[in-house]
Parts: sequence; structure tokens; C-alpha cells
Amino acid sequence: MDFFQKLPKIELHAHLNGSLSNSTLSELHVLKYGKEPATERDESFYKITAGQNLTLKECFQKFKYAHDLTDQPETLAYATRAVIRDFAVDNVIYLELRTTPKATYHMTKTQYLTTVLETIRQAQKDYPTVTVKLLPSIDRSKGLQEATENVSLVLEMHQLYPDIIKGMDLSGAPYGTKFSDFATILERAKVRGLKMALHCGEFPDDDEVWEMFQFGTDRIGHGTFIGGSNLKFAKTNRIPFECCLTSNVKCSTVKSYEDHHFKKLWKAKHEVCICTDDFGVFDTSLSDELRICSETYGLSTQDILQLQENTIEYTFASEAEKQQLTKLFDLFKNTLKDN
Ligand code: 5GP
Repeated sequence: MDFFQKLPKIELHAHLNGSLSNSTLSELHVLKYGKEPATERDESFYKITAGQNLTLKECFQKFKYAHDLTDQPETLAYATRAVIRDFAVDNVIYLELRTTPKATYHMTKTQYLTTVLETIRQAQKDYPTVTVKLLPSIDRSKGLQEATENVSLVLEMHQLYPDIIKGMDLSGAPYGTKFSDFATILERAKVRGLKMALHCGEFPDDDEVWEMFQFGTDRIGHGTFIGGSNLKFAKTNRIPFECCLTSNVKCSTVKSYEDHHFKKLWKAKHEVCICTDDFGVFDTSLSDELRICSETYGLSTQDILQLQENTIEYTFASEAEKQQLTKLFDLFKNTLKDN
């Protein structure tokens, strides 16, 4: 194992249905359809392969492949467990997973969320090296009625799983929607103490970014197009950016790794962390993302250690959990000194 693999890592931005590996997709296909998928079908429907030049809009189509496979409780539980296992194998010690509760032909939204939460609870016993939290998502493309229902459901479930549900995510294709319409709905969760991880500045719209800051997002999902006074505000108020390098390059929201906004954020000492977004769709891992980060922007081993240590502070974990993560991190640093 190399340094990046061995490094205890913190993942704060990972969508469940975007985080299915090739083998998990095949297994899900067998579970649902009783046979393996044709490889080309799997690749072209779900993965963004090297050299593909897609727009953000086209990237959103990719998730349909996974959504079809995880539309029943058995396959959803299987997928959730596999994602947690894959992060544990990559030596991720703390994971905040996101997913949008969906009503399908085979289950209600309550069943969807209960299945994910129960699987997380069980996986905590089977993969004790990784602590897992859930940030249920609101998918902007599904409209206000769905958002209202999902917040009510999340508040209900939060009472049953307060140790797992720590916040909410706002994501999905944003086209033709306004954040201000979702703000009052999300406010209901905010006042109940749930943290907010909003996709923010994923496309150029300074006014919307400002509205999200006024609302009070606790972290910034992507933040690709944040500049000027908004960038200053983020710095002053120490709002962490969740940077997903490969995701942004493959969705063409940034031209190349070299052009990624992480570079300027790191240089200007913003609060920033590295995440995978959808490691299945983008064919990456958190270890790979940190390696790319180190190689592209010249971060030393010390810098990478610092980056991960800072990330502990950006989690929605309790103070006791943060202390535990820091302890694990210190143990790892000691092993480096000994070698
Ligand atoms: P799920 O919520 O179904 O578990 O995960 C997949 C969903 O996450 C997608 O359908 C989409 O709504 C959301 N998602 C994944 N990656 C991105 C991203 O980069 N930007 C936005 N805005 N949403 C995303």
C-alpha cells in the first residue's frame, strides 16, 4: 500500500448512487435481473470514461443506470453496504454519505430511507473502521413538493436515528429552479439543528451563492464559480469548500486539474477539503484524488496530512467523534515517524 492508501481519510461529499463500483453494478444487475449486464452497457450508461467530453447536464443522465438497479429494498441495501465497504477498504475512517429518498414501484420514500439507515447501522458493526453518517438529499430537479415531503420525512427519521442523520444536502440538476424557493423548506431542518451541505456555485450565479450564504450553508459543495465578494465572505466566515477534482474535470465545469479552483483556494488558505463526489461514475477513489491533488498542486506529505487533519474539523461529527478521529490520525503520524 502506498502513502495515500494507508493515510486515514475523511470523505465528506459522496452520493450513494454515484458511488457504485463496476463489480457492485454487476452484482446488483444479477440481483435484480438474474444475469450479468453486458459490459458495454454498464460502461456507457453509468461511467464517464477517459476522454469523454460531457456537459454537467449530460452527466446527470448517468445516474439513471444506478437508480434503476437500486429501486428495491434488497438492492438498495446491497448497494449501501458495498459503498461503505469500498470506502473502508480505501481506508476512509469517516464517511458522510448522501442520498435522495425516492419512492419507486417497489418501495416508499420511508422504506428507502429506513433501508439506507438500517444498512448503515449494521455496516457500523461489520466495518467498524469507518464511522458513517447520512446527509439525506433534496434533488432540486424534483421540485418543491418532493422537497417538502423529503424534509418532513428526514425530520421524522432524525428522531429515530439522531446518531446517523447529521445534516442535509441540496443537489441534483439545478436547471430552471431557484434556491430561494427551497430555502424556506430547508429552514425547517436547519432550525431543528441539522447542518447544511449545499451544492453552491456549481454554475455561475453570484446572487444564488449570496442567498445560500445568507441562508447559512455549513459547507460549500464544489464552489466552482465563487469569486469576488462571495469568495471573501467564505474566507472570513471560514466556510469549507468540498472540492471534487475528477468530478469537475469529467463534467467539464473546470477545464483541467491544473485549472481547478482548489489551487487558488489552497494558496489563499481557504478552508478546503478533497472529496470524490461519485467515485463509481468518475472511476476514482479518495486515495486517487489525494494523489492527484498532491501531484498537480505540489502538496508535500506534510500538506496532505494537514489537509486531512483540517477536514476533521469540517465534519458534522460530535466533538467526541472528532477527538477520536484526531487520535487515529495522531497514531498514523507516529507510525510515519517510526518508519
Ligand atoms: P443518489 O441521491 O441517487 O444516491 O445519488 C445520485 C444523485 O446525486 C444524482 O441523481 C444527483 O441528484 C446527485 N448528484 C451527484 N453528483 C452531483 C453533482 O456533481 N452535482 C449535483 N448538483 N448533484 C449531484
